[in-house]
Amino acid sequence: MVLRELFSATQVHERVEQLAGQLADDFAEAALVVIGILNGAAPFMMDLLRLLPTNLASQVQYDFVVATSYCGTESGGTVELSRELSVDITSRLVLVVDGIVDSGRTLDTVLAALQKRAPAQIRTCTLLDKPSRRQVAVPIDYRGFEIDDLFVVGYGMDLDGAFRGLRHVAVVESSSEEDE
Ligand code: 5GP
Ligand code: MG
Repeated sequence: MVLRELFSATQVHERVEQLAGQLADDFAEAALVVIGILNGAAPFMMDLLRLLPTNLASQVQYDFVVATSYCGTESGGTVELSRELSVDITSRLVLVVDGIVDSGRTLDTVLAALQKRAPAQIRTCTLLDKPSRRQVAVPIDYRGFEIDDLFVVGYGMDLDGAFRGLRHVAVVESSSEEDE
């Protein structure tokens, strides 16, 4: 197995800075509730929060949901949510953050679960988007990068638990020997 860099740590950082700038413009003084989808969204969401201007950062609340669907590099097809929110999102402005949207099933499941709690509005944000893989249409309001149908790791994204700590994003390629 070989890792090929897709976005360097600098490219990732610069894009996250831009997204934080967009959020700052769009939400100004709003009391935003940011909800990350664990485990993948954690590094992205924390960097995003750290880059918000003080007026917005001082109002922000955040929480996480846990969604599991993948086994190796293949989606299991069903998505399970296994964490209750501790922040009340009723009548709140919510931003759901994930690291990557692929089939769309995870985000769709999370959005459906959050809608039941009657938030004022939900926006979505993902660092990576693989539109060619979509099976369920999901709204994406803030997107870091659009990528082809590639399996990526790093910056929160794992292969069976590994590589989440990388600060860059890499594509997993099988070596020619493994292909034989
Ligand atoms: P979806 O439910 O949209 O098919 O997939 C979303 C979730 O699947 C992501 O939160 C992530 O955990 C996982 N996933 C999708 N594509 C990739 C990928 O290329 N690499 C990794 N590591 N995880 C992925
Ligand atoms: Mg995963």
